[in-house]
Amino acid sequence: MAPSGEGCPSLCSGLFASFHFSTLLGLSCLFFTFPCSWLALNVSWAFPVICGHLLIPTILYFFLTSFTDTGILHKGIEEELENQANTLGSLQQHWCNKCQLYCLPHTFHCSWCNTCVEEFDHHCMWVNNCIGCHNFRFFLLFVFFLTSYDLAVLITCLTYLALNTQQPFGVEKICTVLLTIPAGFSLVPLLILLSHQIITVVAAQDSGKFKALSCSRSSAWESNLFAWCKLHEAK
Ligand SMILES: [Zn+2]
Ligand SMILES: [Zn+2]
Repeated sequence: MAPSGEGCPSLCSGLFASFHFSTLLGLSCLFFTFPCSWLALNVSWAFPVICGHLLIPTILYFFLTSFTDTGILHKGIEEELENQANTLGSLQQHWCNKCQLYCLPHTFHCSWCNTCVEEFDHHCMWVNNCIGCHNFRFFLLFVFFLTSYDLAVLITCLTYLALNTQQPFGVEKICTVLLTIPAGFSLVPLLILLSHQIITVVAAQDSGKFKALSCSRSSAWESNLFAWCKLHEAK
């Protein structure tokens, strides 16, 4: 999923993200098959409708976060960066020995992806990609919808268990208990992560770090196009 990682770190990160996504899908299948369908038939169709409308954007933003160009600096764009630094009146560039290029402030080298990333926030193992200037919004929305979905799953499972206290333990009830445990334990860490990301955005906007989350190049498509043009100019 990370576009240019190399070796074991990238492989481990990729395997971890694949396991994470497979677990999300597997548990969601159990959830919609057992407690959610029972509640839809016996209580209200609002349960699957609401949970489904939270799961779809969760998956969508997972892929957008994972596959969007994070703000990777490609070789051959030093002139562009230098011009921009001059325009901004700031020459606080630093040299990356691994990428062999000059980087603007707030650009850091990710050892997992083996690339320099603009407005680097962190490397996320869950999505196997850096969180940088181009995908920070997607990551924030992914965390928001994942937290909302987790909360909806927890409420649904607890509602099912509350309505079936007298029923013996069958496959449906055992699956619901097994779904309630990870949903409950992951809710607090997700809320902490969401709060941290919101505080980061507010602090960044106050300090002007993200410049309204716009980077030296306005989009991933323009970044790739620019790098492609430079490559063909060099030939
Ligand atoms: Zn670098
Ligand atoms: Zn990375």
